[in-house]
Amino acid sequence: MVWLRRDLRLHDHRALAAACASGAQVFVAFVFDTTILGKLDNPDDRRLTFIHDSLAEVDAALRVRDARLIVAHGDPVEEIPRLAKAIGATSVWTNKDYEPSAVARDDAVAAKLKAAGVAFTALKDQVVFEEREVLTRTGGVYKVFTPYRAAWLSALGAVAGSGTASDAVRACDPDLDALAACGAEAVRGKTLDDWPLERLGFRRRELWIAPGMRGAKQLLARFRPKVADYETARDRPAPAAEEPDGTSGLSAHLRFGTLSIRECVRLALATRGADTWLSELVWREFYQMILSQTPELAAGRPYKPETAGIRWPGTDEHFAAWCEGRTGYPIVDAAMRHFNRTGWMHNRLRMIVAMFLVKDLLVDWRKGEAYFARHLLDFDFAANNGGWQWSASTGCDAQPYFRIFNPIGQSERYDPDGRYLRSELPELAACADREIHFPHAKGRNPRAAAYPLPLVDHGLQRMKAMGLFQAR
Ligand SMILES: Cc1cc2nc3c(=O)[nH]c(=O)nc-3n(C[C@H](O)[C@H](O)[C@H](O)COP(=O)(O)OP(=O)(O)OC[C@H]3O[C@@H](n4cnc5c(N)ncnc54)[C@H](O)[C@@H]3O)c2cc1C
Repeated sequence: MVWLRRDLRLHDHRALAAACASGAQVFVAFVFDTTILGKLDNPDDRRLTFIHDSLAEVDAALRVRDARLIVAHGDPVEEIPRLAKAIGATSVWTNKDYEPSAVARDDAVAAKLKAAGVAFTALKDQVVFEEREVLTRTGGVYKVFTPYRAAWLSALGAVAGSGTASDAVRACDPDLDALAACGAEAVRGKTLDDWPLERLGFRRRELWIAPGMRGAKQLLARFRPKVADYETARDRPAPAAEEPDGTSGLSAHLRFGTLSIRECVRLALATRGADTWLSELVWREFYQMILSQTPELAAGRPYKPETAGIRWPGTDEHFAAWCEGRTGYPIVDAAMRHFNRTGWMHNRLRMIVAMFLVKDLLVDWRKGEAYFARHLLDFDFAANNGGWQWSASTGCDAQPYFRIFNPIGQSERYDPDGRYLRSELPELAACADREIHFPHAKGRNPRAAAYPLPLVDHGLQRMKAMGLFQAR
């Protein structure tokens, strides 16, 4: 039995390929994990639509081969051994998940299966290099990205743009002829039809990207001709109607595994000028590695322990204004309103809003991290925690003194004609390009009468933020 988790596809899939190669008949299963779903208090959570639709595509592809996706609802520690017993599985295959709670869950599942005489095998699939595979010369864990990337590329042994792929990224396509034809008895009460979204307690949402393997394929095809332009195009946020524009928009697909990371790396290796995009894929692995080697991060600990004592003085009122996009700083407000409506935010904007919350509003980064975790369609603990701690200067590469973005300067630089701002902030329609980045700079601006006054003065707050780091 293959247990799908964050790998909702049937191609280039290590666990499925290995199970199919084992010579046994293979069943494919998924568990709606109540220990996770129980913590999601928003019935409109978009991720459930993404997951459900992606599973429906997997099920449809299995049906073509007279197989079915077997679906359970409950705690996987109980459900996986129960399903394995029900279908008479001798072995359970899965792809590894490096989040501390997932590691603990898998250990418990493995122990329970072992007691029942069922083997459990978890394979590396989600990343090219995992855990301690890329280490410093002295066998230590990298704490800074740039040397990690150099070591990662060297371990890959393939040169970007050369078209050569190393073994580490070769496709693992399963032989789907090994799939077990599921008789009605085997799947009774255990299919996706038995678990519609509403029964799980969630409502269907509009998504800004198509889910599933097909959605990933479409986005990748759209991005393929743009990979080489990524370096110059990646920092310009596009209005909602045009996203994802200069970046791939593939993060949710990589999060839920409707796309294989190896396929992305192969594309980057085969494309001249794709080095910068490849670096982003390495950032993803860097944060996965950091989390696997520092599981305490999942308990809210800053990566740099010396920053743990900082008492962030930001207020609940300011946090609420940030969440709702009414800080008086247009680039922050546009990004947050767009985010609240869609669950998507461009990388440059994630950095700007995160830094603004922490360094201008002086709010504890963990509050922003939790807000993103609740609303991001592509939420991934390792990347989100890494991004927040980078922005808050509490993480790897922490640089409190010069990593304080000026939100007005960022807006002028990355949205010079205010196209993005205008698409989200109708109150600024009458503003000229030169004033739109900070309309109330010289007191209340009648052309932005309906737009809030700035909550804080950036110059002053910047000094206060530096003071917090100095005083710790
Ligand atoms: C505060 C903050 C929070 C973030 N939270 C998340 C999150 O929860 N989930 C998430 O996937 N990314 C997160 N990121 C990283 C990054 O913003 C997104 O991965 C990126 O915006 C997704 O857009 P894209 O798919 O078009 O990326 P592209 O620019 O096309 O990059 C390709 C892929 O590389 C990976 N990637 C790119 N940048 C990063 C990065 N800095 N860190 C880790 N992986 C990266 C993603 O998987 C992405 O899909 C966060 C960044 C910040 C600053």
